[in-house]
Formats: sequence, structure tokens, C-alpha cells
Amino acid sequence: SGKLKVSPTFESMHLKEDLLRGVYAYGFEAPSAIQSRAITQIISGRDVIAQAQSGTGKTATFTIGMLQVIDFKSRELQSLVLSPTRELAKQISQVVGNLGDYMNISAHACTGGKAMQTDTKKLTHGCHVVSGTPGRVLDMIKRRILNTRHLKMLILDEADELLSETLGFKQQIYDIFAKLPKSVQVVVVSATMSKDILEITKKFMSDPVKILVKRDEISLEGIKQYHVNVDREEWKFDTLCDLYDSLTITQCVIFCNTKKVVDWLSSKLLQANFAVASMHGDMKQEDRDRVMNDFRSGTSRVLISTDVWARGIDVQQVSLVINYDLPDNLENYIHRIGRSGRFGRKGVAINFITRDDAQGLKAIEKHYSVKIRPMPANLAELS
Ligand code: ADP
Ligand code: MG
Repeated sequence: SGKLKVSPTFESMHLKEDLLRGVYAYGFEAPSAIQSRAITQIISGRDVIAQAQSGTGKTATFTIGMLQVIDFKSRELQSLVLSPTRELAKQISQVVGNLGDYMNISAHACTGGKAMQTDTKKLTHGCHVVSGTPGRVLDMIKRRILNTRHLKMLILDEADELLSETLGFKQQIYDIFAKLPKSVQVVVVSATMSKDILEITKKFMSDPVKILVKRDEISLEGIKQYHVNVDREEWKFDTLCDLYDSLTITQCVIFCNTKKVVDWLSSKLLQANFAVASMHGDMKQEDRDRVMNDFRSGTSRVLISTDVWARGIDVQQVSLVINYDLPDNLENYIHRIGRSGRFGRKGVAINFITRDDAQGLKAIEKHYSVKIRPMPANLAELS
């Protein structure tokens, strides 16, 4: 497809004045690598596949591209962003609101777990951008509350997750796509993009611009990766308690593979007087919201969660990720550890390894061409 144009500054992208103001007011000075390459491609109207490492600013990439082409004289819905979790959909809608602040953007997070009236009110009043989860968005389209007639752009964030065979979003994405105007521009985004996923995108993208990352370049150098041999499952808990003081230096996310272990671990830590918060998909949305707010504000510093937290969530203060359970899925390994080290910050990832995990650890090392070394004895080295 030839060499892509690279825009070294935001000015050189010829953005609308109010948009450029929004970008600078948000604190951005210069574009990241993916922003330098992908924003002008999105603006050009072509379908785009944008892959870039975690924490390198993919949200602003599609948001700036989208804000440039929205017609603000109209109040019609012009851009739809889909992502796999409610928290991520809300985060995206907030970034859109912030970057579009001087343009009087109206963005709405359309997600499950909230009263339908909220969606109805906002959507009938009119808004430019919807950022939602597939189930609720499809529901709103079927009820004719979400009007797709004027949609110019569909964005799939964490696209490989949305299109994966195992999670049940794929059919919903197809059903949504079938209701969109034929001319809709499609932008898909993720840090991980397999051959299978690229194949699937052919079904609803035409001649896309592809910006891809080689597999051995996905892992970030700023995130140090370690393992601790815990031998057996029962030793994980004591190992974690020994580490607790280092967890609270900034903020930390602990990943478990099941909701059950999240509940068990958080109650056990709380009983032992360690302050922790926890979150998973079976909790009530108001509790999930409260946990997110406390963690974002820094009121809580240690969060235990499942893969519901693996993708997209951006809390800059997170500098440590612990895989209490090694993930079963190679992609989610890199997404989990990518919750730390946001936008070039330093991060540390620690993997708890039982005897049964030895193979899994090797598979991760091989897949990403990384060496996951034993954790240094001096924990101070972690920070
Ligand atoms: P990704 O989706 O690639 O994982 P995000 O879009 O969540 O990354 O961005 C990660 C962090 O980087 C966010 O806190 C965001 O505000 C910040 N960021 C993005 N672009 C820039 C930029 N050009 N300059 C400074 N910070 C940026
Ligand atoms: Mg992202």
C-alpha cells in the first residue's frame, strides 16, 4: 500500500481550530506514532485498521479523526463507537467529550446495566456520537431509538475482542453493521490483531489502510515483566500479602481468571486488614461505577478484577499489574500488563506461576519474544 504520510505535529494535520484547541487544552503537545500515521487516514474517509501498542493513544486517534469529520451544524448521530465493556464505553465517551469540548460535541455512553430511559432521552434529544457496548446499542437500534440513518463512521475499539469467536459479540456486531448505511466508514482498532481477525474484517471493510505492529514489537519496553514461582495454588495468597506494601506505592491491578477467585481473594485480603477493592461482571452496575470512581480518583489503590478490566481502561497511576492467575488467552496477557505503563510511563508486571503454569509462561515468552525473569529479591527495585 506504499508509504503512509506521517504528520509530525497536530497542526500539520489541518484540524479545525476548535478541535486543535481541544487537543491542546486536554494536555497533548505532540502526536504519538499511531496518531501521526492514522488520524489523517481516518479524515481522508478510507476504512482504517489501526494497530498500536497499549497506552499509545489509540482512543484520541479515532476520536480526533472522527471529530474532524462530524458536521456540527447537524444534531444527527454521525459516529458510533463500539467496545466490549461498559466502563470502556464510558471512558471513550468522556474522551470524546473532552477533546470535543470547544466544538460543543454531544456524546452519549449507551451501555447495559443502566435504565433505558437515559438512552431514550439522550438519543431522542439528539447527539453526535454514541459510544456503547454491542448488546445495548443493538437493542436501541431495534427499538428505533438509535437512528443510524446519518451515521458516517463506525469504530470498533478492541476490535479483535469484539470479533472473537468465543465472546458472543461477533453476531451482534454483524447485526448492527447490517443496519448501517452502505457508505459507512469503518475504523478498527486494537493492540492485538490476529490473521483470523484481519480475515474477518474483509467482510465489512473495503480496501482498508492497514497500520500494523509486528508481534515481537507489541510488548512495551517500559513495562518490566517478572514471574514468581509459587509452586502451588495455596501459596499465592501469602506471596501476595508479602508484596502488599509494594502494591500501594502507586496503584495496582490484580487479575484473577474467575469472578469466584476475585470474590474469594478480596474478602480474604479484607479479613487480613489489607485495603483492596474489587470488580467483576456479576456485580451491580452501580457498584461497578463506585469502584471505578474510587479507583480513578485514587481513593482506592489496589483493585482485584477479571478480564473485564483487561482491555482499554486507562488509569495513568497504575504502575503495577499482578497476574494472580496467568491468563488463559495470549492476547489478554499483553492487554492486562498494558494497564500499567500508559503513554510511555514505567510499569511492572508480576506473574504468579504454579507448577501447572510453566508451559503457559513459556508460550507467552515465545509469542511476544520476551524474557519474563524471576522477580528480584529486593522489592524496592520494582519502583
Ligand atoms: P490505547 O488505547 O492506545 O491503549 P489510550 O488512548 O487509552 O491508549 O491513551 C493512553 C494515555 O495516553 C491516555 O491517558 C491518554 O490521555 C494519553 N495520550 C494519548 N495521546 C497523547 C498525546 N499525544 N500526548 C500525551 N498523552 C497522550
Ligand atoms: Mg484503547
